[in-house]
Amino acid sequence: MFQKFLAGKTAVVTGSNSGIGLGIAHRLAAAGADVVLNSFTDRDEDHALADTLAREHGVNVRYIQADMSKGDECRSLIAQAGRCDILVNNAGIQHVAAIQDFPVEKWDAIIAINLTSAFHTTAAALPLMRAAGWGRIINVASAHGLTASAYKSAYVAAKHGIVGFSKVTALETAKEPITCNAVCPGYVLTPLVEAQIPATMKEYGLSRDEVIQKVMLERQPSKDFVTVEQLGDTTVFLCSDAAAQITGTAISVDGGWTAL
Ligand code: NAD
Repeated sequence: MFQKFLAGKTAVVTGSNSGIGLGIAHRLAAAGADVVLNSFTDRDEDHALADTLAREHGVNVRYIQADMSKGDECRSLIAQAGRCDILVNNAGIQHVAAIQDFPVEKWDAIIAINLTSAFHTTAAALPLMRAAGWGRIINVASAHGLTASAYKSAYVAAKHGIVGFSKVTALETAKEPITCNAVCPGYVLTPLVEAQIPATMKEYGLSRDEVIQKVMLERQPSKDFVTVEQLGDTTVFLCSDAAAQITGTAISVDGGWTAL
């Protein structure tokens, strides 16, 4: 879809050894960017992913282990990257429970990984972007950054928080060639969503297909999942000159969910 207009840029994508992060990394690499992949694990397959991406797209790709629940590791990820022209804050987890039963450690982990990590990586990346004279920050929020669902208190709070944080980042960089936006996907069939299917099947006595159609896609008017490729291309678009004046906004890629 896009030429290799990102050649010479380095993109750091947090939480990118699976799902949406990996999809975004592929599209950024296809557009010519060098990429830093990340997760908290340090397995052979994580490093193999970097090799595959580099081979497929002819760019430099590194895998850097860093736990996005820890502020010092968030900052060290950016320091180790050395350059960060494009920052994609994507790492995220989910837990579903009523507020009164919500485990405190799950609340803390979701706020740390889905929200606070972006504060740390952004604080570390902005000086590098300013030195390079160009920068793009894309925060992967969610339709749950704009609307709510019961039993997802920590996730909805974190995602609303990251939409707000994106606006503040945009205002603080408004006079510079740096933009910051939130991308708000509806349901995407990734491991994070797959993991919610068995519990929902059990809770409501539904088949897998019924969970997908009647529970997950119930609020997605398109009745279809968003794909990681579509989110990758949205991210690449936000890195293009066409998007230079798009900053501080939340871009919905949700099959009409938030139009309801
Ligand atoms: P996923 O589980 O496939 O990916 C999550 C990524 O985050 C993985 O690479 C995982 O290793 C990483 N991660 C988790 N904890 C981490 C930590 N402590 N440190 C570093 N990395 C960590 O899920 P996904 O669906 O691809 O989710 C990616 C992002 O998209 C999340 O922020 C999620 O909230 C958001 N999102 C997903 C959907 C969806 O329907 N799948 C919808 C809207 C928003």
